[in-house]
Amino acid sequence: MTERCPVCQQSSFTVAVTGVPGAEVGGRFTFIRCDTCGVVKRSAACEAPGLEGIHAAPETRPYKTGFRRVEQGWYWLRLRRLKTWRARGRWLDVGCGSGGFLQYLSRRGWEADGVDPYPQAGQEREPARGYRLFSGALAEARYPAATFDVITLWHVLEHLPEPVPVLQEVVRILKPSGVVMIATPNAASWERRLFGRHWFYWHPPQHCILYEPGTLARLLGEVGLRVVGLSFSDLEYNLAGWLQSAAHWLGAEPYELRNLLKGSVRPAQVTRSLRQAYSWLVAVLVVAGAPFAVSWVAITALCRRSGCFVAHARRDEDFP
Ligand SMILES: [Zn+2]
Repeated sequence: MTERCPVCQQSSFTVAVTGVPGAEVGGRFTFIRCDTCGVVKRSAACEAPGLEGIHAAPETRPYKTGFRRVEQGWYWLRLRRLKTWRARGRWLDVGCGSGGFLQYLSRRGWEADGVDPYPQAGQEREPARGYRLFSGALAEARYPAATFDVITLWHVLEHLPEPVPVLQEVVRILKPSGVVMIATPNAASWERRLFGRHWFYWHPPQHCILYEPGTLARLLGEVGLRVVGLSFSDLEYNLAGWLQSAAHWLGAEPYELRNLLKGSVRPAQVTRSLRQAYSWLVAVLVVAGAPFAVSWVAITALCRRSGCFVAHARRDEDFP
């Protein structure tokens, strides 16, 4: 089977990693790196029938109540990232999940819209007030051209097997001089090198494509967007990535640390209580190593090699 690169359309690849455990579906996955543009994609060769529906499967479950305040802090940091500080305007969050961020934005005077392909999005929160949520694909929402001042894709791009059409739609509905912010894992991170196949952000089969600043800039260039800023200090995702990668490396059940925090351990898993107890022990060990983790996150951010990064982009037409 010939695989095609979704960014440059070439079909010559080198294996990047093998034996990555699947999240929620089991099995092992391989990721390959395009020899032409360097983008890293999950190899279609290891796909089993029935995976189609899970490609961009939701990570919409909010944190347990105790962590909601932490979540508000992350939202505050996310809003602060908008360097061209706009008073107010229209904000679209693509892949808004359960809508927590939209709620946060609307309380601060933004006119907030969210789109998420999963019908259950939004149902786990209070009834939507002050913001609009569309359940479906972005193109199906049929927003008029040049509608939004800000469009965010927060850990969404890596879920899209074909990112170009989605980004073309983003460009179409972005206002002149509007800003697109994209947060995504960093395939060139030191964390990926350190943890190898235990790196949390491989996260197959949900993650289809992994970028680094150079490959993302190339992809955005294809659709007429220009990167105007890069940030490597996304504390929320960098810290979470480190903690969960460390837990995997220590032998915790794949992705279980996150599931414990989000309370999404399924009933069938309860019987594996010993296994869970071990996961908790690992969690304690990982938390005990938190000072080191924070130092790691700070150093990798300074060296622009953090586990995740955020790109700000503007339309090509906005430049003389
Ligand atoms: Zn390529």
